[in-house]
Amino acid sequence: MSNIILLGPPGAGKGTQARLLTEGRGMEQLSTGDMLRAARTSGTEMGKKVAAVMDRGELVTDEIVIGLIAERLRDGSTGGFIFDGFPRTLAQADALGELLKRSGTDLDAVIEIRVDDKALEDRITGRFTCGNCGEVYHDRTKPTDKAGICDACGSTDLRRRPDDTAEALRTRMLAYYRDTSPLIGYYYHAGDLFVVDGLAEIPKVAASIAAILDQAGSS
Ligand code: ADP
Ligand code: ADP
Ligand code: ZN
Repeated sequence: MSNIILLGPPGAGKGTQARLLTEGRGMEQLSTGDMLRAARTSGTEMGKKVAAVMDRGELVTDEIVIGLIAERLRDGSTGGFIFDGFPRTLAQADALGELLKRSGTDLDAVIEIRVDDKALEDRITGRFTCGNCGEVYHDRTKPTDKAGICDACGSTDLRRRPDDTAEALRTRMLAYYRDTSPLIGYYYHAGDLFVVDGLAEIPKVAASIAAILDQAGSS
């Protein structure tokens, strides 16, 4: 069992790789972005509060996302957790360390998915997902087999995110550089950091991550 963080800018491929790990290794994906979007859909007070912030591409407060993660960690996971899009600030990273320690576990690897900034606008503006099963697609690099129908579950509920625009991406990149990129140094210092080439094709990125996990698991 391992607990890992997938770290990288918007569009790096964190969600795509997290899903593959869930299917292949029985790990559990914890995506704060997905949890926040679920809160919006179900119309909770918190969901209403974060909607405009998310659409602009800014970060929601540490308190909210740490609360979401704390709740999910309480029950543990037999296959290990994949933190996808969390932590995004140093305060979140400290909180995660504490939460894991309290539940008697630890982080096994922090995997930075490194992607040239130039590739991100195309990744983000071409992205769509299945509203039913969460499968992630791309207009050019990962289209559905049949137009308008999810390969994985057959649903026709294919969606684009309101923040997947070139304009919101600029705000999200600023947040990434200002608040999230310091985590690379933080985890490097802790000895937990691994880097994979996120510009490679999806199965190749998955193979690089698998090699890291096998190594981390056997040491
Ligand atoms: P991406 O695919 O760009 O990595 P996510 O789905 O992870 O995006 O996040 C979408 C939005 O949700 C973010 O722009 C931010 O507003 C909010 N969000 C998600 N995770 C966090 C977090 N850990 N801290 C603060 N805000 C978050
Ligand atoms: P993140 O969760 O980091 O924001 P996603 O996994 O949602 O990123 O991927 C962003 C977009 O790029 C999606 O449309 C996805 O299909 C596509 N994508 C992901 N990984 C790759 C890759 N290695 N090569 C080409 N396209 C990719
Ligand atoms: Zn689907």
